[in-house]
Amino acid sequence: MRYRSTRSEAPTVLADAALRAGVAPDGGLYMPEQLPRFSVADFSETPDLPGLAAKLLAPFFADTPVQTAMADICADAFNFPCPRVRPDAREDAPDILELFHGPTGAFKDFGARFLFRAFGALGQTSDRPATVLVATSGDTGGAVGCAAEGVAGTRAVILFPAGRISAFQEHQLCCWQAPVEAARIEGDFDACQALVKTAFADPELSRAHNLTSANSISIGRFLPQMTYWARAALDVYAETGEPPGLIIPTGNLGNAFAAVLARTCGLPIGPIVLATNANTTLADWFRSGRYEGRPSIATLANAMDVGAPSNFERLAALEDSQIESVVSVDDKHIKTRMKTVFDETGYIACPHTATALEAFERLDPDPRQSRRWIVGATAHPGKFADIVEAVIGQPVDLPATLRAVLERPVRCHDIAPDKAALANLLGGKAHDRVD
Ligand SMILES: *Cc1c(COP(=O)(O)O)cnc(C)c1O
Repeated sequence: MRYRSTRSEAPTVLADAALRAGVAPDGGLYMPEQLPRFSVADFSETPDLPGLAAKLLAPFFADTPVQTAMADICADAFNFPCPRVRPDAREDAPDILELFHGPTGAFKDFGARFLFRAFGALGQTSDRPATVLVATSGDTGGAVGCAAEGVAGTRAVILFPAGRISAFQEHQLCCWQAPVEAARIEGDFDACQALVKTAFADPELSRAHNLTSANSISIGRFLPQMTYWARAALDVYAETGEPPGLIIPTGNLGNAFAAVLARTCGLPIGPIVLATNANTTLADWFRSGRYEGRPSIATLANAMDVGAPSNFERLAALEDSQIESVVSVDDKHIKTRMKTVFDETGYIACPHTATALEAFERLDPDPRQSRRWIVGATAHPGKFADIVEAVIGQPVDLPATLRAVLERPVRCHDIAPDKAALANLLGGKAHDRVD
């Protein structure tokens, strides 16, 4: 399997090169040149998620060491449950696919855990370990730090904006041991991202530290996200004889693009509906056919505060966008949906999951009743306890995995938002600050 750039000018590469590079040299995103085709029967002997994942993902990593190690990578990366629950007893109620039972309580664990194990399989190509540099405003950094801890040959450096993330999120970024370093930047998330871009664009810095990326455009992050949609779709198809519809809470389109790809590969997936918060870039594009990226606005579903979805270029590269509809949900409706679902069923949804539950309620009755729908639940509500508790009027328990995170000591660096400070940090010259 070879990968081409969405901008088509760069030479095609195998998955290992695409993994290491992150972005294609022409600035485009890597796309598989031709997709493997599967039928439902191909998965009859892989009833669990890791087995299905190894089968589905192997062709995407053909002719690389990742393919050889695929069964072990998947067994090790996807070692937590991914249950489908039905808290609402109504016959046409959706299944909720809980993607948040990994160690950091959000679906980002699937991609991050796979990515670092894939890096591990690729091994070290020079005398220096690869440095995965990420800017984060929340869940990605925690998942990356957790996935990188203890992985030889790769270190992770996580940049986050001082004072702009929740106390829980900050703890979750700063609690990982070597080879993970977290740095609090005096600036906002855009400043963090700009700093990462500056570092990648600097050939000297980039080469000296073997910089690579773990953001949602990495093929090592979005391809593994196909697996739980595939698993759930096959299971529902076996139960109902009909490919289920998916409702996916969306920000950078990584999770949703993975679902589109799984369907294109032949998995029994019906219509795909995107749910966004009040950032309406995708809803406007769907309505008008014109794409206009813009600055993001802050919402209660903050992991989806994206004004220019980075994977849009991939969706646009497909012949047909294959999206059924895009539903934008503002904060007021996020809150009322969280409250209504809790009052009617006792189920506690995080704000991101609530956008998708609201999008489900807005489907027309015909398509809604014609098949089973699966709503993606992307984070544990305990990660957003301050918002959720105020809405439902009850405390939210943290699961044991997230409580364990809070018991870890934290360690981080404070750096100015400039290249010299980042170069010092990368060179190991910044001092630890222990809170
Ligand atoms: C990252 C994230 C999203 C958005 O996922 P994309 O792949 O960027 O569309 C939704 N919900 C939660 C909780 C997230 O962490």
